[in-house]
Amino acid sequence: MRDEGKCQRMSRAKVAVVGGSIGGLTAANVLRDIGYEVDVYERAPQLLSGFGTGIVVQPELVRYLLERTGATLGELSVPSSSMRYYDASTAQLKGEVGASWRFTAYNAVYRKLLDAYGTDRYHLGRRLIGIVRTSAGLVAKFADGSTVAADLIVCADGGASVARSTLLGIEPKYAGYVTWRGMVDQNDVSKETWGFFQDAFSYGLLDDSHIIAYPIPQVSGDGRLTGRHRLNFQWYWNVAEGPDLDRLMTDATGERRSVSVHHELLTEANLLGFQARAADQLCGPFRELISAAPKPFVTVVADAEIEQMAFGNVVLIGDAATTPRPHAAAGAAKAAADAWALADQLEKTHGNIADALAAWEPGQLAVGHAYLAKVRAMAEVLQHGGDFPPGASEYRFGLSVPG
Ligand SMILES: Cc1cc2nc3c(=O)[nH]c(=O)nc-3n(C[C@H](O)[C@H](O)[C@H](O)COP(=O)(O)OP(=O)(O)OC[C@H]3O[C@@H](n4cnc5c(N)ncnc54)[C@H](O)[C@@H]3O)c2cc1C
Repeated sequence: MRDEGKCQRMSRAKVAVVGGSIGGLTAANVLRDIGYEVDVYERAPQLLSGFGTGIVVQPELVRYLLERTGATLGELSVPSSSMRYYDASTAQLKGEVGASWRFTAYNAVYRKLLDAYGTDRYHLGRRLIGIVRTSAGLVAKFADGSTVAADLIVCADGGASVARSTLLGIEPKYAGYVTWRGMVDQNDVSKETWGFFQDAFSYGLLDDSHIIAYPIPQVSGDGRLTGRHRLNFQWYWNVAEGPDLDRLMTDATGERRSVSVHHELLTEANLLGFQARAADQLCGPFRELISAAPKPFVTVVADAEIEQMAFGNVVLIGDAATTPRPHAAAGAAKAAADAWALADQLEKTHGNIADALAAWEPGQLAVGHAYLAKVRAMAEVLQHGGDFPPGASEYRFGLSVPG
């Protein structure tokens, strides 16, 4: 009898997921799998291709694909066997530890999650502008004038979350530095540089800055690995808030961007400044990586901390909840973990949304807070000349926190 009741309740219940990236698609898949009717509302007018660059594989990130779609790690990612720590100004190796991380590309994970969910109920061009209270409870309001009511609204609309802003009035706070990101194809660097970065996650440490680089698979338009590789890098610069940051984040049309300036819109002065700084501060393979990158772009690093993830029938997950900095490579994993935990609690409570959210929220808040504290601590040493010992357990990648 109880199972029947559970089935009926779940099969009738509707879920609206706002944001169709890693967090939103993982939520959509796991909630649909336990019987909900799920629709995804994504702001972008077309499928998210070319969005993001490399991602370090964490178990939570690929859990859905491995457990439920039959995908293999080999289809998604490339292996590595060590973490290397260099002085980026001399390219001198300061330390190396064994570590078997795998690396993937955003598109490989996104397309596989989307293939699993399908596109019938993946609604593009739907931009959330607010969560509003009506007599029927909280509903999602979109820029096209439509509103969506659902038994559960899962907001996975990323670091600049409109849902978080409406519900809590919290915006991401600039962390004091930006990251220049880019990718370089195998053919575009020398054999020596290619070999230098192979099979490892490499840190290039500087006094007030650091650069990371690692190989990622090249991915075709439909998310399949082509068999070729690229190098993915991120170079973090401290930039004071005010005129310096404004100059860097103002694009070629004169618009001050709040999150990223894409390559096509970089001003010539900023692009030249990027290359000149590489020539001045970086050595050997790190310098070549920058000079060979065809489309570098710049993103501000910002984080947001929240004390509430559930609001009646609305929840915030992933970056829309706590937005972390990238240093422990598990932001997307956190988004997926929030989604899995939500589905687990809905199953445990037989679809009682209020009970499920009450049980879900404290654990996921704790995960977000602990992870944010870890990546802030990493930033403190990495961007300010602190001691970053090779293999230190407190700075290990992943959601887990020592102790
Ligand atoms: C430089 C950098 C490197 C990173 N490296 C890693 C890594 O190696 N490993 C890792 O796990 N994580 C990494 N991350 C973090 C990771 O990118 C995010 O944590 C992760 O993408 C969060 O997933 P999400 O689904 O919550 O949000 P997002 O991926 O940001 O997705 C939000 C989605 O919502 C949509 N959206 C936004 N606003 C609206 C709206 N108003 N209405 C409707 N839709 C909307 C967006 O278009 C997008 O599709 C990195 C982040 C950065 C910046």
